[in-house]
Amino acid sequence: MTRLLFWIALVILVVAAIRSKLRAALARAQGPSAGPAPASSGGNANAKAWSRVEDQSETMLCCAHCGVYFPASEAVRADGRDYCGTAHAREAHQQAR
Ligand SMILES: [Zn+2]
Repeated sequence: MTRLLFWIALVILVVAAIRSKLRAALARAQGPSAGPAPASSGGNANAKAWSRVEDQSETMLCCAHCGVYFPASEAVRADGRDYCGTAHAREAHQQAR
């Protein structure tokens, strides 16, 4: 009998954990304005999470040769212009001559 109660308690705990995770994921997907913000501490945590997301986002640059957008950290600078790779920087340089 105690075994059955143990398994029931385990299932309830697992379901509760999954539901709380799903709710957190939904709140994140909906954004800080759409999601429920009951407590000030919870809203603060949400804002912190969003500022972290903004920190991770990177500036996108347009390749001066092919026009493709790419992260600024991968940019190859040549002749004062940004390129998506060394190949396009070289090609643009050769065409300019
Ligand atoms: Zn390019």
